[in-house]
Amino acid sequence: MTALLEIDALCAGYGETPVLREVSFSVQTAGIVALLGANGAGKTTLLRSIAGLISPTSGSIRFDGVDLAPVGVEDRVRRGLAQVPEGRSIVAELTVDENLRLGGLWRFSPRELGGAVDEIYAMFEPLAQRRNSSGHQLSGGERQMLALGRAIIARPKLLVLDEPSLGLAPRVVAQIMTVLRRLRDTTGLTVLLAEQNVVSALSIADHGVVLGLGTLVADRPSAELTSDDALRHAYLGF
Ligand code: ATP
Repeated sequence: MTALLEIDALCAGYGETPVLREVSFSVQTAGIVALLGANGAGKTTLLRSIAGLISPTSGSIRFDGVDLAPVGVEDRVRRGLAQVPEGRSIVAELTVDENLRLGGLWRFSPRELGGAVDEIYAMFEPLAQRRNSSGHQLSGGERQMLALGRAIIARPKLLVLDEPSLGLAPRVVAQIMTVLRRLRDTTGLTVLLAEQNVVSALSIADHGVVLGLGTLVADRPSAELTSDDALRHAYLGF
């Protein structure tokens, strides 16, 4: 197995305020890793560092064998690192179809783009039925699916998601998790999933990484995390 993403002794924060302290872990190719921890533990700060929105104060992030330090935000996307930030980054004024096309614009020729959009509709049935609806008209679950579809249309190697289950009904959360696992199984997509919804995230993850106040508390197979009562009570809240 090879690591697609390698985080090594990463320190990062905001101005003079350190948040992440010496965090190290890796995500194997075609693996699903759940990034867990309470509010304020540093999950979003870590994802922002991976995206290139925050510069680490020390340590390194390697993606697909390349040190990302000198690589800009857009170049990271072009190298196959896709993000779905918290809050579902879709353009609400545009239709479902237009949002998807926007996600694939840089990757496909105008002639290829239609086929790529159709592949997303084949994966997300509800989106196909809503293709001409504007973002405003979508339910929370449909928005999350659209944000996901928009991120994966360009066929990234790694998909990074920040709290995709936030505010969604349990049935919709289950659908999203099923889609992520199916994507991994059928396309070999690698997934890093930050979640407060620990049970849902661990239900699809091979591995769980737990942050507590900016430090790494655990990096273990999902089954081991759920069976460790002390860890569950202290950091995972169930
Ligand atoms: P949540 O689930 O609430 O998003 P999180 O685990 O993602 O939590 P972060 O958002 O990374 O945690 O926050 C980690 C720490 O960094 C918190 O103490 C937070 O107050 C602080 N922080 C977050 N954003 C900023 C910012 N823009 N400027 C200064 N401090 C920040």
